Amino acid sequence: MKIICIGRNYVDHVDELNNDIPKNPIIFFKPSICKLEGFDFKIPEFSSDIHHEIEIIYKISKSGKNIAISDSINYISGIGLGIDFTARDIQSKFKEKGLPWSISKSFDNSAAISKFKSIDEFKDIENIDFSLTKNTAKVQSGNSKLMIFKIEYLIHYISQFISLEENDIIFSGTPKGVNKLKVGDKLEGYIENEKILNINII
Ligand code: ZN
Repeated sequence: MKIICIGRNYVDHVDELNNDIPKNPIIFFKPSICKLEGFDFKIPEFSSDIHHEIEIIYKISKSGKNIAISDSINYISGIGLGIDFTARDIQSKFKEKGLPWSISKSFDNSAAISKFKSIDEFKDIENIDFSLTKNTAKVQSGNSKLMIFKIEYLIHYISQFISLEENDIIFSGTPKGVNKLKVGDKLEGYIENEKILNINII
């Protein structure tokens, strides 16, 4: 299983980090070891600026390469929510030097993954509301229609370069509102107003 992540996929988040709107999807990876087990995320010692990024995530149903946009939907088995935990201090240092910032995104436990809902439970996958609360206050909210690159295009695009396999997970990018976490914070993720993600920061 691999975790494929999309960067800068919502205009409001691109703006808050002073980045440019990408012409093509920005792709990075989290190794499978990054999957957070359980409900507690421990802030790692190497960072003093861990951010939350709530994202719609998609589970891949079968292997595929060079998938046509029109066929992409047949490769999605489930939809859920993930948190792409990011060491923003480390990322900023590497970005300044123009170096790859993998380590700021791809450390142990950096991918919180909810249960997956069947794709059939959604009326329109290009109109899915989602949000994140921190200590019950809403801090991030978005809708899949606001993605710069929609999931059907992403599956097509990614599969030109990297074969998709059953159980791969795509993190589709975060809207604005990313911010620093501290010990004791409680995060809750909602998709179409249903709470499906619950993480304690320890
Ligand atoms: Zn992200």
